[in-house]
Amino acid sequence: MSARAGVVYLVGAGPGDPGLMTARSLELIAAADVVFYDRLIPPGALDGARAEAELVYVGKQPGVPSVPQEEIGERLIEAAQAGKSVVRLKGGDPFVFGRGGEEGEALRAAGVEFEVVPGITAGVAATAYAGVPVTHRDDASAVAFVTGHEDPDKDETALDWEALAAFPGTLVFYMGVKRLEHNANALIAAGRDPEQPAAAIERGTMGGQRTVTATLRTIHEAVALAAVKAPALIVIGPVVERRDQLAWLERRPLHGKKVIVTRARAQASGLAKRLRGLGAEVVELPAIRIEPRLDAPAVREMGAAVGVYELICLTSPNGVRLLFEAMAAAGLDARALAGVSVAAIGPGTARVLAERGVLADVVPERFVAEGLIEALGDFELQGQRVLVARAAEARDVLPDWLRDRGALVDVVSLYETVREQPSEEAIAAAQDADYVTFTSSSTVTNLTEALGERFPRAARVVSIGPATTETAAAAGLEVDVEAERHDVDGLVQALLDDAS
Ligand code: SAH
Repeated sequence: MSARAGVVYLVGAGPGDPGLMTARSLELIAAADVVFYDRLIPPGALDGARAEAELVYVGKQPGVPSVPQEEIGERLIEAAQAGKSVVRLKGGDPFVFGRGGEEGEALRAAGVEFEVVPGITAGVAATAYAGVPVTHRDDASAVAFVTGHEDPDKDETALDWEALAAFPGTLVFYMGVKRLEHNANALIAAGRDPEQPAAAIERGTMGGQRTVTATLRTIHEAVALAAVKAPALIVIGPVVERRDQLAWLERRPLHGKKVIVTRARAQASGLAKRLRGLGAEVVELPAIRIEPRLDAPAVREMGAAVGVYELICLTSPNGVRLLFEAMAAAGLDARALAGVSVAAIGPGTARVLAERGVLADVVPERFVAEGLIEALGDFELQGQRVLVARAAEARDVLPDWLRDRGALVDVVSLYETVREQPSEEAIAAAQDADYVTFTSSSTVTNLTEALGERFPRAARVVSIGPATTETAAAAGLEVDVEAERHDVDGLVQALLDDAS
């Protein structure tokens, strides 16, 4: 069952690797009317949200005034009481140092129904990605999750250092970088062996994950020397040494390489996923954004009248999503398409259709308008009513051809793609990139225009093929690597060859 109106979902988004989000979390994000999200959620976590969903940032940032906790609770209650389905998305697990308990209590007090969706907590995920088993038959029969940063409003420390020093197992400190020296000394003073192995794991499970190891006595120096920053975990116990045998992420071919990928929000980023799988740190710079036109009269009319067409042509996954939204607005569902033939431009579009219970009748081999035209060659089009539902700025190749064949064609623009300025944070993260990848001429144009002077000049430029290379050259970029095969596989291979 997906998201219900008037319910708040307290959802864990996992430690940072998008692949570690649960199926339930993705399902809820895709259905929610509103998502209130924190800073430490995985890149692209909100990509699956509906185009009209309200996405509200309520995270805390060091040194910046943040939305107070009580206000977050109030806003959750308000949204639920307004009849919306609400996702409250947090890093890791909502109940592990995530204040999910407090939010649940506030919701209960207000009589608002909620559901808790656990997430993979950093304490087990960052450690696993660093090759540190938090328990081990020989080394640790217990593990403790400890906060290294007490609530500053508390007068007295709640941590019992004697008990923690005597704890017979692995200690994992969350939020433990700032007070590391103090905490390590407190443990030693309370009797923990200063020679016990210790590690700091920075940005665990994310591209750019780093692990620094030392002993309990020296870990604060090692952390200062390596300039380890939050988010990071501190792990103390003999299991840290198992890393010598069990580290695996650092062995991947693109580990330590930062790669820029240009993408539109809500566009499945297969390239980013592939690069992450090879160990790269991926910076996704959105340079375009989809702007739905669900309120346009033509779109409303279309939503109510899909059943009158003999053939509907869909040219993107976004087009399918918005077509169904427009139908839903008219009180219709997939049954309204009974008896209508449906053509999808490619497998991505066909997949989104299939998720909505419609198997495309036509999917061409080449995923461009010309490919769809070839695939429609056998269709009787004379006098048939055909709907082309697509982006506002699409080419007219397909509608023109359909009209030439005698079809009565309606072209409806479901959305526009508009330039989007990447966030300052993303631009800053891109500055020391090792590679920038271009998968089409439009990614070159969008990214160079969006970054302007702040295009990372030191990064090596990887192009998918000659047309893209030409556009890059015209934009004043020197292409260092051009793929031999002009698809995502070819681009990844070219990058791997260059990096090795
Ligand atoms: N609810 C979260 C924890 C929030 S507290 C969870 O279950 O994981 C924030 C702290 O979690 C950070 O200061 C850091 O200590 C830890 N943390 C979160 N994500 C991390 C990551 N990817 N790598 C290392 N530590 C992380």
